[in-house]
Amino acid sequence: MTICKTRKDTARLLSQLRQKDKSIGFVPTMGALHKGHISLIKTAKEKCPVVASSIFVNPTQFNNAKDFEKYPVTIERDIEMLEEAGCDFLFLPPVNEMYPDGLQKNEYYNLGFLETVLDGKFRPGHFQGVCQVVELLLKIIQPDVAFFGQKDYQQCMVIKKLVELKQLNTEIIVCPTLREASGLAMSSRNMRLSDEQKIKAARIYETLVYINNEIRNGATDLVLLKEKSKQYLIAEGFKPDYVEIANANTLELMNEADGKTQLVALIAAFLGEIRLIDNKIIEM
Ligand code: AMP
Repeated sequence: MTICKTRKDTARLLSQLRQKDKSIGFVPTMGALHKGHISLIKTAKEKCPVVASSIFVNPTQFNNAKDFEKYPVTIERDIEMLEEAGCDFLFLPPVNEMYPDGLQKNEYYNLGFLETVLDGKFRPGHFQGVCQVVELLLKIIQPDVAFFGQKDYQQCMVIKKLVELKQLNTEIIVCPTLREASGLAMSSRNMRLSDEQKIKAARIYETLVYINNEIRNGATDLVLLKEKSKQYLIAEGFKPDYVEIANANTLELMNEADGKTQLVALIAAFLGEIRLIDNKIIEM
């Protein structure tokens, strides 16, 4: 695997590959890799002859300074995992390579409604930072296809919107969420959970499955279902930011199941200091 730390070398090396008519698949990450990230690399390998990844803990997308400071870094192990998975290229820039003029956000991305709900509401500025870094990465790597995890459901919608706003020439593929045997969605932040908290954290997925089952069994009052689920998580020691059920295509929040709209249930909740998110598309 070739490792490059500068934009210039990365753009040059990848354009050589592109000239040989090889399509490039790209998996951006913030490192502290786990099997969920590796599943994206594997999917990229199935679809593209060249697979590039990036590791960059983007400071502009953290709305909480402590979360940024404590974000896990396991770079040597990450490189081993990427090599083992068959990744061809790693872009590993330092902060001043990505933001030579400082961390200010010079551009406002008009994400509309998407930025007013769920993580858009609870993490002000987060998706602006995501757009800032993803636009930069897509312009440097210029991938034919980029792969993102459904684990970050709203982020996937934001990135599709970014590609549309900026008319970028990259196809976006959303890949399924990899889970621990307990159901807990794999996440770099799980490394910061104690063993006891890891067991407890599986309650989030259990709650999503409960919501799914209730709707499948005919529940239509989603206000009640959301409230019951939220109270359950609170009783289990979580501090939920939200327990929501939304239109899976637009993220419009739903108060009633109409039997026609494709729904998605989404949860964000703190367990101790760690904020966990997960979601499940409702299967009928
Ligand atoms: P991150 O390093 O957390 O920014 O994640 C990098 C990419 O991996 C994003 O597209 C995430 O949605 C995706 N990802 C994170 N966790 C998982 C998971 N458990 N399963 C599949 N993809 C994931």
